[in-house]
Amino acid sequence: MTESRTLPFDLFLSDIKEVEVGRYQEIITALEETWADLKLDGKALGLAAPQIGLPFKVAIIRLPGKSYAIVNPRILRRSNSYIVPQEACLSLEQAYATRRYRRIRIIDEIDGERTIRDQREALVLQHEVDHLNGITIYDRRRRR
Ligand SMILES: [Zn+2]
Repeated sequence: MTESRTLPFDLFLSDIKEVEVGRYQEIITALEETWADLKLDGKALGLAAPQIGLPFKVAIIRLPGKSYAIVNPRILRRSNSYIVPQEACLSLEQAYATRRYRRIRIIDEIDGERTIRDQREALVLQHEVDHLNGITIYDRRRRR
């Protein structure tokens, strides 16, 4: 038996739909249940619905001391400066160096529009919003 770090679900990469206003709670619940079942605390900082076989624009963010969900998010602005983190993903075997903006301005249906100044939170949000648009760290990997 081989051991895999990846989630036991098909990853949706296309046809990921926006959720109707007010219809997202059951998707958040499914994400939270998966998070608990797979004991992802300490292993991940976020999980997106397309990673658990649900083709909708919903994700949960689990930073130390800060947990919330995002629904139909869009990144409105990005800082000029960026970082080059080594990123892992629950849906992929391999980690990749990517390029992420230090700060972003984001809008979603739960918390509205706001600027994310915390670099790690901004990174996690960029990773999860990418999942909701069918983009992975493999697509974002830095090439020479
Ligand atoms: Zn991921």
